[in-house]
Amino acid sequence: MAGNLCEHCTGLCCQYIALPIDTPKTPGDFDDIRWYLIHENVSVFVEEGEWYILFRTPCRYLLPDHRCGIYATRPRVCRKYGTDECDYHSGDYGWEHHFSAPEHLDEYLRTRSRNGQRARSARTRGAGRGRRAPCAGAAAGDTQQRDRHGVPLPQLPVPSGRACTR
Ligand code: SF4
Ligand code: SF4
Repeated sequence: MAGNLCEHCTGLCCQYIALPIDTPKTPGDFDDIRWYLIHENVSVFVEEGEWYILFRTPCRYLLPDHRCGIYATRPRVCRKYGTDECDYHSGDYGWEHHFSAPEHLDEYLRTRSRNGQRARSARTRGAGRGRRAPCAGAAAGDTQQRDRHGVPLPQLPVPSGRACTR
């Protein structure tokens, strides 16, 4: 693209502010995020595991021609911001999650809860596989010895009082 990239842009990076927030852990934390999201022009996103709140609010010094009205004294954040990975240049945002309404957060929590239940079930099944099957002779009244496939073994005389030691 010819010339300065910003000349082709409508000042996308000057239309919002985004601040890092604590990663929510408790139901109360998520309810606080819900509170953010019930407000207009507020969204929350997760990028590289970090949570941010985003306010869509244009800078008061953004001029109608999309140039900075205080370029010489613009804040540090603006000075450090470059076109390398800016909003206009980078195209797709690297967000893992983006919530722009409370319903998006509700859906996220439902999915998280379902995945958590599945993971717990898988762990329970895994733990079950590690347990030894009960001794074939342990079932009440079942003196029939079986192989590992459950096929009855030939009956052999078993000395009385002998305990299963498997
Ligand atoms: S830095 Fe990027 S997003 Fe910001 S005005 Fe320039 S081209 Fe647009
Ligand atoms: S001060 Fe200038 S560069 Fe910074 S957000 Fe406002 S218009 Fe954009």
